[in-house]
Amino acid sequence: MEPEMEATRRRLQLLYESDRLLGLRDWPVGSPGTSTARSTIQQAAGEDAPAMSKKVAKSSPGTPREHVSAPVKRNSADSGLDNRVKLLIEQFPPEIEPPGIDPQGRPDLLVSARYALKGSPVDVVKLKVEALARQFEQVKQCQRCGLYNQGCKQKVFGVGHPDTRIVFVGEAPGADEDRIGYPFMGRAGKLLTAMVEKGMKLRREHVYICNVVKCRPPENRTPTTDEITACQDHLWAQLTVIEPEIIVSLGSPATQTLLSTRDSIGRLRGQFFEIHLSGSDLTGGPVAKCLPTYHPAYLLRNPDDKKKVWEDLKKVIAEMGIPGSA
Ligand code: SF4
Repeated sequence: MEPEMEATRRRLQLLYESDRLLGLRDWPVGSPGTSTARSTIQQAAGEDAPAMSKKVAKSSPGTPREHVSAPVKRNSADSGLDNRVKLLIEQFPPEIEPPGIDPQGRPDLLVSARYALKGSPVDVVKLKVEALARQFEQVKQCQRCGLYNQGCKQKVFGVGHPDTRIVFVGEAPGADEDRIGYPFMGRAGKLLTAMVEKGMKLRREHVYICNVVKCRPPENRTPTTDEITACQDHLWAQLTVIEPEIIVSLGSPATQTLLSTRDSIGRLRGQFFEIHLSGSDLTGGPVAKCLPTYHPAYLLRNPDDKKKVWEDLKKVIAEMGIPGSA
């Protein structure tokens, strides 16, 4: 098999494996091209290389993504992992797919595989899933600040692809997030989804989304400095595992925490800052680029500033080299 074709086959295998592992099988059945794409993925995960080559040759980066219902394959080696990662898999809510997104507007399978998986081995994805699942267990037990018993229903850890290139960090869970257990689920969450999916042409489940603070502050108030200080180690631990290239900080608390500054979001937004992922001391560890922008909840109150956020996101798109975005 030609090297390029072999690489393509490998990428499809990675995508298939990670989707199967992470439960990302929410693609609707019956969309145009379903059967072709399904058989392509099945072949990528199994045999029939010549047929695979033929189909892959038709597909190229930038063509519309075909929607697939990939089959669930299980083997005995999965069973131990299944138990360990069950908690994290549960973090993929079925309702995150927003209505009204044009499936033809998304990147194709190969582009998705490239930016979602970075060509990393499936083992790396599995290790990251396991590490995040362990962290989630620790967060569930956390009583470092008073927020754990001030009316919140549950800890809201984070959601998304564990080996993504891009992480969005917000402030704290609100009422919807507290009720459902996932970050950015209300009106602000819908806006963030639109920013990610319509604007950046990424799938929401291929990015990672979390907050600085994991428990809902009473009455949705802004978390205090003490609460942020108590909780930020959980965030740094998440970021250290995921090791994204880009972090988009949404609003002042997230930005000020990640950049360890008191400067306003209005002054900082739209610029890249290099940050070390090892923690708030800003030394050591892998480096990511952080781009602050306005929080979607702020945009709901100040829609005129959506243009500024779109300008910011275009910088992120350019930095990531995402093709086919508006
Ligand atoms: S907000 Fe964070 S630090 Fe405070 S109890 Fe919840 S998880 Fe722990």
